[in-house]
Amino acid sequence: MPVRCSSCARSRAVLKRPKTGHSLCRDCFFWAFEEETHQTIVSGRLFNRGETVAIGASGGKDSTVLAYVMKVLNERYDYGLNLLLLSVDEGITGYRDDSLETVKRNQQQYDLPLKIVSYEELYGWTMDAIVKQVGLKNNCTFCGVFRRQALDRGAIMLNVDKICTGHNADDVAETVLMNVLRGDVARLRRCTAISTDGGGGDGAVPRCKPLKYAYEKEIVLYAYFKKLDYFSTECVYSPNAYRGHARAFLKDLEAIRPSSIMDVIHSGENLSVKEGVKMPVQGTCSRCGYISSQALCKSCVLLEGLNRGLPKLGIGKHHRLHGKILAQQPLTPAEENKLKTLEF
Ligand code: SF4
Ligand code: ZN
Repeated sequence: MPVRCSSCARSRAVLKRPKTGHSLCRDCFFWAFEEETHQTIVSGRLFNRGETVAIGASGGKDSTVLAYVMKVLNERYDYGLNLLLLSVDEGITGYRDDSLETVKRNQQQYDLPLKIVSYEELYGWTMDAIVKQVGLKNNCTFCGVFRRQALDRGAIMLNVDKICTGHNADDVAETVLMNVLRGDVARLRRCTAISTDGGGGDGAVPRCKPLKYAYEKEIVLYAYFKKLDYFSTECVYSPNAYRGHARAFLKDLEAIRPSSIMDVIHSGENLSVKEGVKMPVQGTCSRCGYISSQALCKSCVLLEGLNRGLPKLGIGKHHRLHGKILAQQPLTPAEENKLKTLEF
């Protein structure tokens, strides 16, 4: 006998919610998913009426669902937000060029303005060129640092008030685990925050994560049943082994106990930092003006390393050398040598 939806009791259930275990029909699942996102937005006071909000859009499932749900909720609850899509083109042939085609279709489907900023125009380097120089070991460090800043720069060009990103509960839990394993207290505190007010190390423009409590499995189900148009291929340069292990570990935990994802997030939220622990002080980069806790922001150091043919400059701690870079002084042969021979 077919199972009835445990919410409306009328229709046939088509899925078991990974988050709650309830058997639901399609419409009741859509409603539950959207209402929970609305609750997250309202209780976290993520937006104010009249704001212009850029949705960080990659063409992947998370940001596609985010764009769709934001549009639905903005209309259903009259948030009064001016929504637009903001994409970053990292310059990865065979990956980002295809996923940007998806974003362009989403722009038509959801009737939202779209802005694309590229690494090439902002930094003079594509990820394809960076990988040629640095190889496949630290490429994601470059990519992550550049992306954060690129989103901000795009948002500033568009004069938006906020950026929202498609980070889901699994992403946040993974990041909590990674920061615990690395002992990175400053990031641990930041990564669980549902919104940052700009200048807090997460970017210059305020950011928020409306899907912070949405399970990845539910996002996939939502996209599937809504037949949303998204791109699901992995990046061709995706070695990120460390995150991969954290992800696999979390999936194992989830298989035994589905609430593990939420438990890890709550643990991260409730950890307090003992007194006397030095937290980085935010200032601004003396070269580009971007927020930074050092004289030079990470992006400028990475870029300087690429342009000087010393890509390791930005990997590891070489703060000592920042003064020289700022003063445009050449490095000594010993310093150059160290950056060349240092193991990546
Ligand atoms: Fe960039 Fe690495 Fe992500 Fe690829 S996997 S898009 S290189 S951060
Ligand atoms: Zn800078």
